[in-house]
Amino acid sequence: MEEKVAPEEVVRVEDLLPELVTPPNVHRVGPSPHLNWDELACKDPGRTPYPVEWREDRGARLARGYEALRRECGDKPLIVLSGYRTPEHNAAEGGAAHGQHPKGTAVDVAKPPHLTYGEFVAAAFRAMEKCPEIRGIGVYKHGTSIHLDVRLDAPDQRLEVWAK
Ligand SMILES: [Zn+2]
Repeated sequence: MEEKVAPEEVVRVEDLLPELVTPPNVHRVGPSPHLNWDELACKDPGRTPYPVEWREDRGARLARGYEALRRECGDKPLIVLSGYRTPEHNAAEGGAAHGQHPKGTAVDVAKPPHLTYGEFVAAAFRAMEKCPEIRGIGVYKHGTSIHLDVRLDAPDQRLEVWAK
């Protein structure tokens, strides 16, 4: 027999065990101090996580590139617009089929409000000089974000400019 519970009698786990609920100011688990796996998860409806089998190598590599960019931007918070993308979500977003996001080696970062787009791009180039693992930087005509990747399959660093 099914028992009915009045709404006011429902006990919420967070009331009993508040320590289980992570306060917003506590660092969550991620590959580096300012980047966490939630931010790198695919933005598909299921929020497909960054693949576990890639975390120690390419995830850590991507995080080193991201941290280098963050430092060059004055050590201020940056917003990740896109990290890992499943092949399906990448296609739905119009991303390149052999692009870096489905490989877990790319991140798109929003221009922070304290920098002009030119300053942001310059910071990305300084980061690329200091962190050789950064292999690709993408600059958009719309001027609101950049693409940074740590591609494993290209010997030379490169700049791509997208007319988007
Ligand atoms: Zn990108």
